[in-house]
Amino acid sequence: MPEVEALSAQGASMEEIPMETTVLIIGGGWSGMKVAAELISMGYGVVLAAGGTGIGGEPPGDHSASVNQKALTTLLGSVKKADGIEILTSTSLVSLTGVPGSFRARFEQSGEFLERDVGAVVVALETQRVSLAEAYGLSEDENILTQSQLEHVFASGEEKDRLLGGGSKDVLFLVGLQQEGGPVVMERAIESAINIQEAEGLQATILVGNVKLAQHGLETLYKQSREKGVLYFKLREPPHIKQNGVDVSIEFFDNVLHGPVVLRPDVLVVEEAIRSHPQASDVAQVLGIDRDAEGFLQSDNVHFFPTRSNREGVYVVGPARLSSSLAEGWKDAQNAVLEVRQLLGKGKRVVPREKAKIHRGKCTICLTCFRVCPHGAIYWDNRAVISPVACQGCGICASECPMDAIQLVDFRDDQIEDQILQLSATSVDGPQMIAFCCQNSAYEAAQMARVVGGSAPKGLQIVKVPCAGKVDVDYILTAFKAGVDGVLVLACHKDNCKSQQGNTFAEWRVEHAGNMLEESGLEKERLCFATIASNMPMEFVRITKEMEDKLNQLGPSRIKRGAAA
Ligand code: SF4
Ligand code: SF4
Repeated sequence: MPEVEALSAQGASMEEIPMETTVLIIGGGWSGMKVAAELISMGYGVVLAAGGTGIGGEPPGDHSASVNQKALTTLLGSVKKADGIEILTSTSLVSLTGVPGSFRARFEQSGEFLERDVGAVVVALETQRVSLAEAYGLSEDENILTQSQLEHVFASGEEKDRLLGGGSKDVLFLVGLQQEGGPVVMERAIESAINIQEAEGLQATILVGNVKLAQHGLETLYKQSREKGVLYFKLREPPHIKQNGVDVSIEFFDNVLHGPVVLRPDVLVVEEAIRSHPQASDVAQVLGIDRDAEGFLQSDNVHFFPTRSNREGVYVVGPARLSSSLAEGWKDAQNAVLEVRQLLGKGKRVVPREKAKIHRGKCTICLTCFRVCPHGAIYWDNRAVISPVACQGCGICASECPMDAIQLVDFRDDQIEDQILQLSATSVDGPQMIAFCCQNSAYEAAQMARVVGGSAPKGLQIVKVPCAGKVDVDYILTAFKAGVDGVLVLACHKDNCKSQQGNTFAEWRVEHAGNMLEESGLEKERLCFATIASNMPMEFVRITKEMEDKLNQLGPSRIKRGAAA
């Protein structure tokens, strides 16, 4: 695999940038407060914007060993009396402009607008819990409770005596029988079931269907509940439920007993679905960040885990990014604070002067770069400007700019084109093919293939690109014009591109270039787009070998044959 190591030796000079050290936290729940407390303890200022009339709120249902009511009360007290925090209640964010280290946040509060300068944003919206009673065909009654209502009953001694006192009672939980349950749902049910077992005369039974159980400590909690005497029935199908006021019967087939079972609980506890915050969609839109399939505020992209969003300087924690327990939310809070510290430092940041440059004379302010930049790195004076803090150097803007006004410092078009020409002039054994390899995936897979002894084709030549989204149609055509037999564009898998859409842009351009090849009489099959992960060296070998086979069947390219004649 001959390769010309490009272009990173340019060594962009460094620049010191002032960074605003106040951080905006969106969400006044327990995760938001944890972030606030950690930031204040490190000397950062905080603006905490909460949609509700206060901060804190109800204790979350799970009682993770490390987080208890006392810890919550202490946290609330310390945040309320801290210097350096401004708490804005009944407030919603209406816009966030600027770049990391220098954002301007605009809020609406009771019909008034206010603005604050912040260096970073942490989104800590809590989840909402939605009763699934209706999905189970149940209507409200005094002995039919949601998981949250049961937790309230336990918190209030009087209610507990009224509902659960006065002799032996059976309490039945329904979990994961109307939708796939998450670990938090299961954890809450088990916690409550243990509390019930510990009360005199009560027996807890859990009917469980489809539940994800991957959460630290859940297995131990389950074992503890078994030791306390909690009964479990694992069901494949939802049970038949009949309700007549407070009388409920639950019938199901038990695979262990090999027969039907009918239970008539005194108290029935119905699971709740845990959904993203009702404002999550609006907040995502205002911040320009992506959501996952369930509406939580982080896309399923491993490059962003645990707390980064696609917009540099905007972080998401705990219940804002997934259904998580309080303890997990607090771990996220610490991770987000580390990110903030790395970004803002002590109010100054030294960064490479620029990863991408805009030729201001060529810029026609068409907004294309602003729209396509996945990291929110473009802003305006009277032309487009790139923030050196936010820019990740992916090059998507450079390849999309209709005026060719943008160049990456380390991957200029002329450098890459020279590299293509230099490689194509090199003689190789077998079909000659150039692979444009994303440095985050295919390039690493190629390196690993060498290390593990995977034998890629001898005629394969590699051009490293910062992101597949930087591969211009011109690069592909230059390679073919120079006589190579085939071209591969190798990108990250879907939803796994560090620059979100770099792989999609690359695929579109390959399709476009393929059509142009066909029109010029070259076989479209000489051009291949594929996705790969960095840890897939043998897949790299397979893709390139398949391409070699195809090129062997097609024979040398018409352009190469023409040049040789
Ligand atoms: S895409 Fe190019 S021309 Fe359009 S605003 Fe950006 S730099 Fe200017
Ligand atoms: S190079 Fe990538 S991150 Fe930088 S401004 Fe362009 S699109 Fe945004």
